[in-house]
Amino acid sequence: MAKFFLRKKIGDRVVSGHPWIFGNELGDSEGTAEAGDIVEVYSYNGSFVGQGYYNPASQIRIRLMSRDKTEVIDDKFIARRIRAAWEYRKKIGYVENCRLIFGEADMMPALIIDKFNDYFVIQTLSLGMEKWKGAIVAALNKIFEPKGIYERNDVPVRALEGMEQIKGFLSEPFDTNIILNENGLKFHVDIENGQKTGYFLDQQDNRRAIQNIVKDAVVLEAFCYTGTFSMHAAHYGAKSVLGLDISENAVATARRNAELNGFADKCKFEAVNAFDVLKKWATEGPKYDVVMLDPPAFTKSRENIQKAITGYKEINLRAMKLVKPGGFLVTASCTNLVPPEMFLDTIDLAAKDAKRTLRQVEWRTQASDHPIIRNIPTTQYLKFLIAQVL
Ligand code: SAH
Repeated sequence: MAKFFLRKKIGDRVVSGHPWIFGNELGDSEGTAEAGDIVEVYSYNGSFVGQGYYNPASQIRIRLMSRDKTEVIDDKFIARRIRAAWEYRKKIGYVENCRLIFGEADMMPALIIDKFNDYFVIQTLSLGMEKWKGAIVAALNKIFEPKGIYERNDVPVRALEGMEQIKGFLSEPFDTNIILNENGLKFHVDIENGQKTGYFLDQQDNRRAIQNIVKDAVVLEAFCYTGTFSMHAAHYGAKSVLGLDISENAVATARRNAELNGFADKCKFEAVNAFDVLKKWATEGPKYDVVMLDPPAFTKSRENIQKAITGYKEINLRAMKLVKPGGFLVTASCTNLVPPEMFLDTIDLAAKDAKRTLRQVEWRTQASDHPIIRNIPTTQYLKFLIAQVL
């Protein structure tokens, strides 16, 4: 196995637990490695740091999978990791649907597995993880005997690893339009053509958090996707709900979800650009008891953070103007590059401009089946605030 040595002074982040090693953090090496090979990493003074997979074509040259020198990384190792991740999810209360593997947080860098009851959707986002796809599928079959496994590798980030975008069955073909249960509601999920893996499991706990504030409320949800928050609002006693999304497909599914749950009268959906509508309504539109915002990630690159902040400020300012005095704003951000404090500061600025005072009800993050590893800051990506708008 090839050995790579970290450069002096650079290893701290890695030694203290971060699994990524960038090309410019590596010094000497011994032996040769091909793309996707498992290699050993040592600090500059020769102490063992970990082992992981190597890709010379990626800026993230090595991603560590184990800190144990004696552990053999093979098919059994992959199965052990998946089993351990499942035991952990069950332990913390996720039995039916969960993000089974959350990449780095499960020491399976660049691997995502979402479990929708009997169906599994996987993403292998690095070349090193792609190599283990067969082992991953075999382990899922053995542990869960699933009804179907699908890969949603139609993700641009794979280009950074020199890989193409693909999607398709990793099991016998099955009907990719499934229905999942969440918090006593049912949702249509389109595994093949839905966004990301088809469903946003990361908000599953937050959807419950709106329970009290939506009772008897007139609710607006912008960026509603398939209407998951809208459906929860109706379920928890909202008077009426309007959901907006730019995607015709998402809106069509949201309407079907309303039918499925018996809320077709209460929940209406429109395919529109939420930026335009919020802008227009902020001055002349109806007012709401509750406004909910869950926009997509506004940037994936550091250069555009300011643009993302401007976007957040704009939609939150307008949403606040739409909230009746004493009503509630529910606002989320999934942009990885915008840390929690920066998001809160932006909301504060929006409140100042809107001349409204915010009273914080809940400040949350992603569901705990997407674990946060304390020394891998990017594992905490979702910000979720519920505030009363005075
Ligand atoms: N809250 C949802 C997830 C929302 S994802 C859930 O928990 O399931 C973000 C959504 O914003 C996507 O459905 C996307 O289609 C939508 N979107 C992106 N740009 C938009 C725009 N300008 N106006 C309205 N919707 C938009």
